[in-house]
Amino acid sequence: MSYETSLEEFDLSISTLHRLRKMEINTLRDLQDLFDEGLEEFLEKRSLTKADFLLTKRHLQEIKRIIDAIDSSGLSNSSHLSLGIRRFVRALPLSFLEVPDDVLKRFTLFMGSEPNIGQLRRLPSRIWFRILQDYSTCRIILTQLNAFGLFIRNQDDFDLDKETFLRTKTKYYMALEELEISKKLYTTLISNNISSIAQLLSFSAAELKEKKIAADAAIATIRNALRDVHLLLKDDYFIFCRDCEQRFVSDETDGHTCENCKAKKKRISKISKLDINISGPEYGSFTDLLHGFVLYANIKNTTSDLLNVKLLSTYVVEDDKQISPVNFLKGYYFENEVIMPDTVRSAGQIWSTERFILKSSLSNGTYLILSVKLSSEPISRMYKFVYKDNSWEIDDYFHT
Ligand SMILES: [Zn+2]
Repeated sequence: MSYETSLEEFDLSISTLHRLRKMEINTLRDLQDLFDEGLEEFLEKRSLTKADFLLTKRHLQEIKRIIDAIDSSGLSNSSHLSLGIRRFVRALPLSFLEVPDDVLKRFTLFMGSEPNIGQLRRLPSRIWFRILQDYSTCRIILTQLNAFGLFIRNQDDFDLDKETFLRTKTKYYMALEELEISKKLYTTLISNNISSIAQLLSFSAAELKEKKIAADAAIATIRNALRDVHLLLKDDYFIFCRDCEQRFVSDETDGHTCENCKAKKKRISKISKLDINISGPEYGSFTDLLHGFVLYANIKNTTSDLLNVKLLSTYVVEDDKQISPVNFLKGYYFENEVIMPDTVRSAGQIWSTERFILKSSLSNGTYLILSVKLSSEPISRMYKFVYKDNSWEIDDYFHT
């Protein structure tokens, strides 16, 4: 037997042989190429597309069994092939296995995107249970992984029967009294005939709300307490937050942002509703004997609320030199100002360095940095305006 041995010599089903042939896989060497190169490179080298990959889980399992059989008969090449197929399967997406939609969703929400089989394999048994919250489902998927010779960490845990697994490896049978909730909430649960964790887990947050057992605050408490012991209410998921990369618990299927990040976004929402433009330079002599030019920051409140606006700093950058204003224009400046809805307030500052004492044009590309904060929001915003053809255009802004 050699790499050139035709696959027809092995006991493969007609369907498998047919599909292999369509992918131009005729010998053990071709199989080895597929496993060594990985799917994408293999397809690309042969000008095939993803749609031309015709092997299902069942076909690969059959190929794996044949390779294992060659392996145990002591013929050469086979262990390399065996290793190859495991590596190949590890790189495939989870949806390659036969998994229910809910399982795919649970893993995808937990990881932040659809994981490949190798990523799942690296998670230990307790994390599997934590994500799937269902012993039988864990077993079903592990059986599929095992068929390719892939095992997860502490897989032995799932050799236990369900009852023993739940009792020894999870807090499923922990007493309700041990959950970190208030006495009042505990009493409410008991009076609604929820006297064990197992019973509590049979409810979704929506059902607890609907049955008036728990309102939003109580549900948040229950979720936190359950999360501490790696359990979830029915229909809840561990979700990877796109913003802070922390995992949170929710039954929301559309949102990938945690409550903290959502609240933070809301708190900084108004500052983006300030409409700011810059006018000037206006050259002149000023009452305090200064000569130079004035730039005005014209700030419009486009919200329907009163906004307390704070000017933090302003400076001009010309030829990489940062130049600060020397004074402000009396009657046209504020540091802190309440701006009414739909109203514009202007703040004028004077630049009077040697370069700017005499009227001269500002060079194109000079820019102005303006930093503004609202008293109601924690984050300040820095605006950058660029001077070009006698006007200032907004270029960028940053939250700081
Ligand atoms: Zn977050």
